[in-house]
Amino acid sequence: TKKKLFSISKALNEINEIIGKQIFYSNIKMSFNYKNENEELLIYGYENEFKQVLLNLINNAKNKIVENYKDSQEHAKIDINIERCQNYNTIEIIDNGGKIDEKIINSIFEPYFTTKESGTGLGLYMAKVIVEDKMRGSIKVRNEGENVVFTIKLPHKKV
Ligand code: ADP
Ligand code: MG
Repeated sequence: TKKKLFSISKALNEINEIIGKQIFYSNIKMSFNYKNENEELLIYGYENEFKQVLLNLINNAKNKIVENYKDSQEHAKIDINIERCQNYNTIEIIDNGGKIDEKIINSIFEPYFTTKESGTGLGLYMAKVIVEDKMRGSIKVRNEGENVVFTIKLPHKKV
C-alpha cells in the first residue's frame, strides 16, 4: 500500500465506532477535542496503521484505568486532543488513570517490555515503528501529574 492523505477526524470517528462502547461501559469518559473545530486536518501516511496505533494507546489507557480505579471510575477519562502545527499535526492521548513509574518510562517502547501478566509488550513498540519509521513522525510519552500524555506528531503533507 501507498501513503496517502487522509482525514484525522474520519479516522478518529471510525476508532470511536470500534472502541467507544467498550470505553463507555467501562465508565470512562472519552472525548475528542479539536483545537480548531472548523478546520479539516489531514495526515500523510497509512490510515489503517494510524488507526491501529490509536486503538492500542486507547486500549492501554482503558485497561490501566479499569485496573487502577476498580469500582470507582466516576472521574476516569481519556482525552484525545487534535491540533494543527507547523509541519505536523499533533494528536495527544491523555488518560488520568495514574502515572507511569519514572523507573520504567524510558523502557516502554522497547519490544517485549510489559508490566502485565499476559502482556505482549509489542503495542508501543509497533506504535513507534509505524509512527517514526514508516510515517516519519514522532511518538513521545510523559507524566503530567497523575495523567499520562502520549504525543504523536505526523506530517500533513507529502514527505
Ligand atoms: P502491553 O500492553 O502488552 O503491556 P505495550 O507495548 O502496549 O504492551 O505497553 C508496554 C507497557 O507500557 C505496559 O505494560 C505498561 O506498563 C506501560 N503503559 C502503556 N500505556 C500506558 C498508560 N497509558 N499508562 C501507564 N502505563 C502504560
Ligand atoms: Mg498494549
